[in-house]
Amino acid sequence: MFTDKTAIVTGGSRGIGAACAIKLAKEGADIAIFATSESAKAKETIDTITKLGRKAKLYVCDVSNMEAVTNCVNEVVKDFSHIDILINCAGVTRDKLLLQMSGDDIDAVIDTNLKGCMYVTKACVRPFMRQKSGKIVNIASVVGLMGNAGQTNYAASKAGVIGFTKSVAKEYAAKNITCNAIAPGFICTDMTAALNDDQVAAIKEGIPAKRFGEAGEVASLAAFLVSDAASYITGEVIKVDGGMYI
Ligand code: NAP
Repeated sequence: MFTDKTAIVTGGSRGIGAACAIKLAKEGADIAIFATSESAKAKETIDTITKLGRKAKLYVCDVSNMEAVTNCVNEVVKDFSHIDILINCAGVTRDKLLLQMSGDDIDAVIDTNLKGCMYVTKACVRPFMRQKSGKIVNIASVVGLMGNAGQTNYAASKAGVIGFTKSVAKEYAAKNITCNAIAPGFICTDMTAALNDDQVAAIKEGIPAKRFGEAGEVASLAAFLVSDAASYITGEVIKVDGGMYI
């Protein structure tokens, strides 16, 4: 499905991003991963993709640094000759009640989750326009739709990603560039591994499906949204949350 396509996946070293990168590679795409370091997990993901017979390269790129992002996207164009797909998945949490939240807690989450998504998208839109096509998926969160006590910084960043997605969709639809958001509920990754058993049980009770989702369940939707089958879908926000927020 993605033969001869190149995808940038930010946050592709592990979790949902790695699942998206591997899913696209299984369907023929070459993959450029942006992550903060050459971690063991990043190397493992690159190895998995290479073993599938696809080209894969890790770019150490802090998405909250606009200059670094511009340089890395230019490097990807040099290395792969074109970019066709962007999945913005890099994200962090710094959960606290607002009264306890430091300026750094607010900046770190907004800078990575929202500004990072904006910087990488901005850097990719020019190559997308040159080749008259591009597919963007931004990984938001149900929390950006419903709010969540203890996550004011994170919910604001994800609500921002949703507004950004809809605006990019309107700005570039006529250029054959689509931009959609996925809003996952609770997904089994390092991000949710910090929850204790009581928290997990209480959360599951509130999810109609009575379980957390798997990263692959988000990746399946991402792969559909960046496929030609979804060419007339843009500006959408689709939840993958087991019915948590209906
Ligand atoms: P994760 O396992 O913690 O992975 C986070 C990823 O983001 C890693 O690849 C990490 O790279 C990368 N990253 C963090 N800060 C970065 C930065 N400044 N520059 C570049 N890369 C950076 O998280 P996840 O659960 O897979 O989450 C992926 C996305 O889904 C996030 O945007 C998250 O907000 C969203 N989401 C997750 C859930 C959930 O329940 N898990 C629910 C809703 C939405 P390193 O490996 O180098 O640290």
